[in-house]
Amino acid sequence: MKYQPTIGLEIHAELKTKTKMFCDSLNDPDEKHPNINICPICLGHPGTLPVINKEAVAKVIKAGLALNSEIAEFSKFDRKNYFYPDLPKGYQISQYDLPFCKNGHLEMKGKKIRIRRIHLEEDTGRLIHDLKTNSSLIDFNRAGIPLMELVTEPDIESGEEARLFSEELQLIFRYLGVSDADMEKGQMRSEANISLSQDKKLGVKVEIKNLNSLKAIEKAIEYEINRQRELLEKGEKIIQETRGWNEDKGVTYPQRVKEEAADYRYFPEPDLPPLKPAEIFDIEKIKMEIPELPAQKRKRFEKEYNLGKKDIEIFIRDLSLADYFEEAASELLEWSEEEEKRGPKAAKELYKLAANYLLSDLSGLIKEKDSNVSEILITPENFAEFINLIYEDKISSRTGKDVLKEMFASGEDPSEIIREKGLLQISGFSDLEKIVEDIIDKNEKVTYDYKTGKENAMQFLIGQAMAKTKGRANPKILQELFKKFLI
Ligand code: ADP
Ligand code: MG
Repeated sequence: MKYQPTIGLEIHAELKTKTKMFCDSLNDPDEKHPNINICPICLGHPGTLPVINKEAVAKVIKAGLALNSEIAEFSKFDRKNYFYPDLPKGYQISQYDLPFCKNGHLEMKGKKIRIRRIHLEEDTGRLIHDLKTNSSLIDFNRAGIPLMELVTEPDIESGEEARLFSEELQLIFRYLGVSDADMEKGQMRSEANISLSQDKKLGVKVEIKNLNSLKAIEKAIEYEINRQRELLEKGEKIIQETRGWNEDKGVTYPQRVKEEAADYRYFPEPDLPPLKPAEIFDIEKIKMEIPELPAQKRKRFEKEYNLGKKDIEIFIRDLSLADYFEEAASELLEWSEEEEKRGPKAAKELYKLAANYLLSDLSGLIKEKDSNVSEILITPENFAEFINLIYEDKISSRTGKDVLKEMFASGEDPSEIIREKGLLQISGFSDLEKIVEDIIDKNEKVTYDYKTGKENAMQFLIGQAMAKTKGRANPKILQELFKKFLI
């Protein structure tokens, strides 16, 4: 019989706050110099007192609300005791039985993944092992940074689903502004619990620690599912344990037999007051501050702009690009409403054209300069005007590439560039007739080929006319003319 995999995730995300969780040392993830943002409190010196960072609590509540959670009426912090060199106090201030948020969910492709809890704790220091000198260094800049931990119910069924869920969470955290959630920088870290079973009863689970990329989440889970299946098929038992992930070898390996909650000797943090969030925060107001989330944006971009799924996903992942697109689109909508003869279809066609140019040509120029859409000289208005010129066949798509380049370099508006350089597309029959006749005269062999059935001879002729007009001739009109003269 088939084994059904069950997966639950524990995801940590460092919160984006000005200061740390319990002191006023800066929370600066970009600080390169070690042990700069530290103080006696986050170094755990005896006799110091922690103070709760209100901003961090507000952000966890915001994340909880965005993920459809219940906000605790009463919440408190607890001490989780363990010894490790990166934990200066010998305990981590965390939350045990009364997290700020519980019973949430995230819907993905029509399926609800339940979120058991989201709680707040502090991050540890960072250990750097230097193999050359065989020594270990500790950087406490990270110690005490507010860390949000989210625990799902075991509702996930594959490595791919776990990756998609993690990626969606990452987007939501970014949209909310609660965390940059950059996995490469360790701002988001994931642990996966995996078990296999043949009936409703869940099997023995294995926890994989330190999954530091979306790919690692998917690959490690896939590997672990296979490993467990092979063992079970041989009639062997799964040991409940914690395993690590070896990225290079693509395998999980045993780390330690799993500790129990009791091993941590949790007890309420005596130096911090328990709190009632509703008395401290205006929960409704936090709810109102939640921006449009990725799922809503996807729907709206499809309905409003009629874009393809692939394009939409690029915008979903790059909000400044999406904003730029929307500004240009609103400009295009205005114009297409003014131009009644275009009819209602025009706006959608303009949006599509705008998305194409934005995601290919303009994005290419931006990448070349290692720049960002929010820094470019082309205003969304000018970009919209450019799209309009292409749409109305005022410039050819070949000329368009040059115009866009010029706009990118100078920030000038497109009609100005076209006027200065005389780049308007030549679409008049009378303007092109002479050129077409000329080319036919000079290319007897090719015209003979065309007349005797070699269709691609036409491309050569059009190419000649394009060269003659420096790419300004309207290729559709050229084709019509050549056909007319060559019957
Ligand atoms: P522990 O006490 O070992 O930390 P928890 O019950 O707190 O275990 O669950 C931790 C995570 O493991 C949660 O995400 C949960 O959904 C998941 N989980 C629990 N039991 C299983 C199981 N049998 N198989 C897969 N995941 C599980
Ligand atoms: Mg756990």
